Amino acid sequence: MKRTRKRNPLAWFFYLIIFLLILILIELVILCVTIVRRGSSQGAQMSQTVQSADAGQHSSMASADDPQQMTQTEIAGQAPQTETDLMQTAITEEATEAQTAAPQANTDLLLILVNASHPLPDNYTVDLVQLANGKQIASLIYPDLQRMFDAARAQGIYPTVTEGYRTHEDQIAMMQNYINRYIAEGYSESDAQQMALDYVAVPGTSEHELGIAADINSQDGNTDWNVYAWLKDNAHNYGFILRYPEGKEDITGIDYEPWHYRYVGEEAAREIYERQITLEEYLMQ
Ligand SMILES: [Zn+2]
Repeated sequence: MKRTRKRNPLAWFFYLIIFLLILILIELVILCVTIVRRGSSQGAQMSQTVQSADAGQHSSMASADDPQQMTQTEIAGQAPQTETDLMQTAITEEATEAQTAAPQANTDLLLILVNASHPLPDNYTVDLVQLANGKQIASLIYPDLQRMFDAARAQGIYPTVTEGYRTHEDQIAMMQNYINRYIAEGYSESDAQQMALDYVAVPGTSEHELGIAADINSQDGNTDWNVYAWLKDNAHNYGFILRYPEGKEDITGIDYEPWHYRYVGEEAAREIYERQITLEEYLMQ
């Protein structure tokens, strides 16, 4: 006997549900794949941005390094004795901190105001290079400093950096030395402290702690005023300003210092030079 198999109508319903579930599953898989693809392409774009920012930084560093290694000894006017003398010592303190934000940070750094009422920001760090005479300056200002010195030499003027970057500890030690000297001469401690202030900025308020200021004198020491005169007329073309000009003592709070030059970048330097103003006045406008 042929047995006709009767399907249960419920079974059809069951198959329909399974079919719908499979459809939903396929949709979900497609959706997931799309999301994952979009996510990874965004990730790739982001890492590309980071890389190109890095590459920009490195290539600019590299181009700054090359002339530096070749001409570094010129700044101090000494012949290198070993290969390590030629080697730039780049001191990177927490350089990874804000790599992608570096261009912005540099702009901020160039116009940072440090004086008696504007102490150095907390946790300030700067990349440094060491000159052949042992002085250090911010790697950021090196290329323009070198260009400036080259231009001066071409005109028979021979400048040298006699003071560059100072650590906060250097500044404290320097202040203490002055105080000790006055105490040894018989002054009271408070008098000694007061007198030291005439020569040394309170630690945390010296531009030398920034690394983008330098005391520039003559290589032979006898023709300092030739160097000062040349710098006064030309430094702005290389992004440097005479930071403590004569007649502006009431604004800067510092006596005239013909040797102290501060890097602010070419644009600001030209304006400050042309308008014969100080960094304080430039930033207040
Ligand atoms: Zn100085």
